[in-house]
Amino acid sequence: MKRANWQFVAVLLFLLCAAFTSDGSTSTVAITQLPDPDTYRGRTCDRRSLGCPQTTHQQNYSVQYIVIHGTDGDRTDGAITEFLTNRNKSTHYVVANGRDPIYSEGQIIQMVQDEDTAWTLGIWPTNSVGDTTGPVHHFNSINIEIAGRPNQAGWCTEKMYQSTAALVRLLCQKHGVPMDRVHILGHDECGLMASPKKAKADPCGNVLGRCTFDWDLFMQLVGGVEPAARTATVLVMDTSGSMGYRWQGGVKIESAKEAALQFIYHVEQENLTQGTEHWIGVVGFSSDAHLILPLTNNYAKARSAIISLHATNATNLGAGLLMGLEQVSHLGGEVQRYVTILSDGNTNTGLSKDEILSGPVAQAHRARICLNTVAFGDKNDVDEDFLRRIASPLLGCGRYEYAATGFDLFAAYIKIRHHALGQVISGLSSFGRSVTPLMGQSIPLGTISIPSDQRELQITLGWSEQGTLQLKLYDPSGRQVTSSYSGARLHSSGQFAQAIVASPQAGIWRVEALPLTSMPQGTKYFAIGSTRPGGIAFALPLPVFTIGDRTFALPGNMRTWALVLVSFVCIAVGLWQLLSDAGLL
Ligand SMILES: [Zn+2]
Repeated sequence: MKRANWQFVAVLLFLLCAAFTSDGSTSTVAITQLPDPDTYRGRTCDRRSLGCPQTTHQQNYSVQYIVIHGTDGDRTDGAITEFLTNRNKSTHYVVANGRDPIYSEGQIIQMVQDEDTAWTLGIWPTNSVGDTTGPVHHFNSINIEIAGRPNQAGWCTEKMYQSTAALVRLLCQKHGVPMDRVHILGHDECGLMASPKKAKADPCGNVLGRCTFDWDLFMQLVGGVEPAARTATVLVMDTSGSMGYRWQGGVKIESAKEAALQFIYHVEQENLTQGTEHWIGVVGFSSDAHLILPLTNNYAKARSAIISLHATNATNLGAGLLMGLEQVSHLGGEVQRYVTILSDGNTNTGLSKDEILSGPVAQAHRARICLNTVAFGDKNDVDEDFLRRIASPLLGCGRYEYAATGFDLFAAYIKIRHHALGQVISGLSSFGRSVTPLMGQSIPLGTISIPSDQRELQITLGWSEQGTLQLKLYDPSGRQVTSSYSGARLHSSGQFAQAIVASPQAGIWRVEALPLTSMPQGTKYFAIGSTRPGGIAFALPLPVFTIGDRTFALPGNMRTWALVLVSFVCIAVGLWQLLSDAGLL
C-alpha cells in the first residue's frame, strides 16, 4: 500500500475522533425504576392501543407534551407511597428532594413507563359531553412530579432543576418533542387547569407575586431549541377615546406609539441577522377594528402606520383580537405567530369578555398562536384578570405585562420579544431600577452565563430619559464586543441599545451601561437578554439506550453527525482504495 493512503486514513481517523469529541457531551441520566409496572395494572393504560374506559374516542396517541408538577408534600417517600396506593393517582416520574432517608436530592424515580398513561393530569381528550378539552391531556403527555411545596420560595433546588431538566431533555430527544415552552408546560398551564377556578400552584406557587418555579432558569438548563427564526407579530393597538387622555406626563396614545416605534426598530435589527425573517402587522381597534398595516418586513412602512394612529370612540377588544388573528392564521407552522394586544381599558362594545375567551382566545389556543397582552394606564381602568386570562391559557408562549408609563410600555414590548425569541437569561433583568447616570461612570448590569451551542445572544438596554447609555458587553475572555467583533451587530438609538452576537462563546459574560452624556436624576433603565440555541429547529428523535439504570442519549448535535457521516464516507473511500491497491477488489 502506498504511504499516501496511510496518511489519508490517519487523517480520516483523526476527523472521526474529532467528530465524536466535538460535542463532548453524551448526556446520561440516572433513572431509578420503581416499582414493577404490574403494580399499576388497572390504573395505567397503553397509550398506543388504548383500553382506558374513560374516553369514548380513542386513537393512537404519541407523546407531544411534557408536563411538570409539584407534589405539594414535604417528602419524596410520602409522595411515592401516595402514587403507589392511591387508585386515582399515578405519575411517570418523581424527582426527589432529599428530605427523607430513602431518596436523594435530585434522584429520578420512574413509576410508569413512558408508553403508558399515568393518571396525574386530570384531563381527558374529551369531556363527558364529548367536546375536546384542549391540546394537552393524559394520553399525549409524560408527567413529572417534583417533590416539594410550590407555595414555598426556593422549594425546587438547583440540583432538582438540573436533574429535572436533564430528564426533560432526554424525554424530548427520545419522543421527538420540541424543547420549547409550547410543549414543556406546568400542570397549571394545561387546558382545564388554566381556568382561574381550578388553577393551583403546580408547579408555579405564588410568593410575593413571583412564581416559585423559575421557568427561565429551567428552560435554560433544558437547553431547548426554539430559534424562532421566522416570526410574525401583529400589534393590536387600543385607539379608543380614553387613549387620548393624559397619563404620567404624556398623552397615552402618543406614549403607545413611541413604544411601538422603538419596538419596530428593535425587530428591524433582529431581521438583519442572517437566516431570520421577522414580519410586523398593525391593527387598531376602537368601536371597530381597522387593519392599519398587513404583515410586512418593510419597517419604514410599519412605523408610518403606527404614526397614523389616533384615539377615538369606544373599546372593542374582541374585534381587534379577531382581526389580529386573521392576519396570522394563514401562516404555516414554521412561522412563530404572535398577537400582542395593548389596551388601556375595559372592552365595552362587541363581544363580551366570556365570548372573547371562549371564541377568539380558544381559537388562537387551538391554532398555536401566542397571545400577549399589555395593560397600559391606571390599574383601576383595566381588567388585569381578563387580560391575564387571554395570555395565560396559551401554553406558556404568551405573556401578560402591566405598564404604568410609556417607558414601561416599551420595556413590556421588549420583554415579550425576548421571551418570544428564545430563553431569557437570568441574572440580568433590572426592570424599574433608577439611577443618576454620571457621564463616563459605568453602571454594572451583572454577569450572565451563556451555555454552549447558542446560535445567538441578544441584549437590550433601555432608558427612560434624554441622553445616551452605551451597552458594554464583555465576552468570557474579557474582550469587549464592538462593531468589529466577529458576528456582532450593535445598534443604538436615543432610547435603547441593542447587541446581537452570533454564536456567542460559552461562559460568563459581563454587562455594563456607560453613560455617554449626563442624564437626569432618577433615570429608569432595564436590561434584558436572551439566547437562541443553535442548530436544528426541533429535537429529532435520537437513539436512546438503557444500560442498567442509566439511560444514554446520543449527542443531539447536527454538526457532530455531519462530521461522522463525512468521516465514514471518507473512510469507506480510503478502504476501497486500500483494498484495490492490494489487488483484493
Ligand atoms: Zn399536577
